[in-house]
Amino acid sequence: MATIYVVGVTGEGQARIPSVPECLFCRIVSGGVPASVVLESPRTLSFRDISPQAPTHVLVIPKDHYPDLAALAAADGSLLTELVNQAAEVARAEGISGSGYRVVFNTGADAGQAVPHVHAHVLGGRGLGWPPG
Ligand code: AMP
Ligand code: ZN
Repeated sequence: MATIYVVGVTGEGQARIPSVPECLFCRIVSGGVPASVVLESPRTLSFRDISPQAPTHVLVIPKDHYPDLAALAAADGSLLTELVNQAAEVARAEGISGSGYRVVFNTGADAGQAVPHVHAHVLGGRGLGWPPG
């Protein structure tokens, strides 16, 4: 579990955590770890998953560090909306908004969340099975 560094406060007492030094995705945001960037907005970054599970497999993250979807939703609903809009923009840019795509937020151990910095997986370009494994 990542150490949480609280260095600022936004909104009604919600913690804002710009960066966690040992977090892989914070290091991608800061440029310390390379990534194949697909889209960038002032508060989000979209880059290709290093181990793609579909022809399109892009991760969309807030540049600030939130450990998971619930933490982001509680702290900053407008940033969550921006993240989801970026996922839709990625799908358009990848040419899969017509054929369909899946947006996944793995949360916690049973869902297999490996990186504790909230990220939306945008998957598409092939038929996706349901239910997921
Ligand atoms: P999750 O299991 O939902 O936490 O997803 C983490 C995702 O990050 C996995 O799909 C990994 O393949 C991906 N990943 C791990 N390291 C990197 C990296 N350096 N660049 C891009 N994607 C990565
Ligand atoms: Zn992080």
